[in-house]
Amino acid sequence: MGMPSSPGDASSAGAGEDAADGRDAVDWAALRAAAVAVRDRAYVPYSHFPVGVAGLVDDGRVVVGCNVENAAYGVALCAECGMVSSLHATGGGRLTAVSCVGDDGRPLMPCGRCRQLLWENGGPGCLLLTPEGVLPMSALLPQAFGPEQLDAAAERSGRS
Ligand SMILES: [Zn+2]
Repeated sequence: MGMPSSPGDASSAGAGEDAADGRDAVDWAALRAAAVAVRDRAYVPYSHFPVGVAGLVDDGRVVVGCNVENAAYGVALCAECGMVSSLHATGGGRLTAVSCVGDDGRPLMPCGRCRQLLWENGGPGCLLLTPEGVLPMSALLPQAFGPEQLDAAAERSGRS
């Protein structure tokens, strides 16, 4: 992975070269299949809206998650929450590619909160399979808030 390949898709403005490089190296079919498989384990007695997500880690692992609802609706967990927890629970690393699917198996966009989770754990170059093709996080969460803002504030205050 990470081998430069033909850009192919130039529709990702602001993607940067890192994002374009890994795009064709990802086995998107396998990643999506993993997302579909875990989607069927979703606990969704209230919404009946199952979601599965699979992420490729920079060491080659694949981590997955499904959404988990609760009688107290507000504490439901998105599939991405489970995936990110699994990422850290199984050794950490960085997400390089993510496929999220809904009940029909088609690409499903992460909610705003989960885009922030993906940003934290994959950064601007992390690729996502979207209804409009493969796009980097830099296109899906423009001008994102991230650790850099905290670092900069710490530096300004002399805490770094
Ligand atoms: Zn979410």
